[in-house]
Amino acid sequence: MSTNGRASEDLEARMARLREEMVQQQLIQRGIRDERVLAVMRKVPRHRFVPPEYVYAAYDDGPLPIGAGQTISQPYIVALMTELLHLQGPEKVLEVGTGSGYQTAILAELAREVYTVELELELLERARRLLASMGYTNIYFRHGDGSEGWPEAAPFDAIIVTAAPPEVPPALIEQLRVGGRLVIPVGTWDQDLQLIVKHGPEPTDCTVQSITPVRFVPLRTRRP
Ligand code: SAH
Repeated sequence: MSTNGRASEDLEARMARLREEMVQQQLIQRGIRDERVLAVMRKVPRHRFVPPEYVYAAYDDGPLPIGAGQTISQPYIVALMTELLHLQGPEKVLEVGTGSGYQTAILAELAREVYTVELELELLERARRLLASMGYTNIYFRHGDGSEGWPEAAPFDAIIVTAAPPEVPPALIEQLRVGGRLVIPVGTWDQDLQLIVKHGPEPTDCTVQSITPVRFVPLRTRRP
């Protein structure tokens, strides 16, 4: 085997160990219980979704910069939001805020199809290339404002938003299937992670549960 081959094997082994520690110390100890979620958090190589200078920080307990002023979310928040969606396998999921594509990969492992929307073209194209190189074929990408959802692909069984709007965009409620679940950070500075479950066809047929305080980048409606 070449020196390079051995070096990359060492790196992957080291990353797998860090990933296992992350699952134990950051996820299980804080109450993540869904075995399917824990299994994909063990599997998906988060270090491939961060810039090269952050590879060794990829499994740290916090968000990291990914370029364009955006961040990849803390592992615990990714696991918590995913667990709240209750994915079983057959779902069609909408993700708003592709970013690095890490959360996208987690969703693609757990659901049938993922539709992901990103405002920053550079981030979208990087995530698209990376996810294709990793072999994912059940992800559809769109460049645009995710607060409008993806009407042509609606309804969705689950929707996840990884940037915070001041209020829940009505289009997302409309595009949620009856029985579907929406997980979204809401607010400007003090944000609240909300789980919204749609029990009937009217926008008022929703229950809103406040989960925990969070800090996400803002959901923007246009380029600054
Ligand atoms: N889930 C991502 C987190 C990305 S941070 C990850 O795991 O890496 C939030 C992302 O939302 C940023 O990439 C930002 O550009 C994007 N974003 C902000 N406003 C948006 C909007 N209106 N529509 C779509 N994407 C948006």
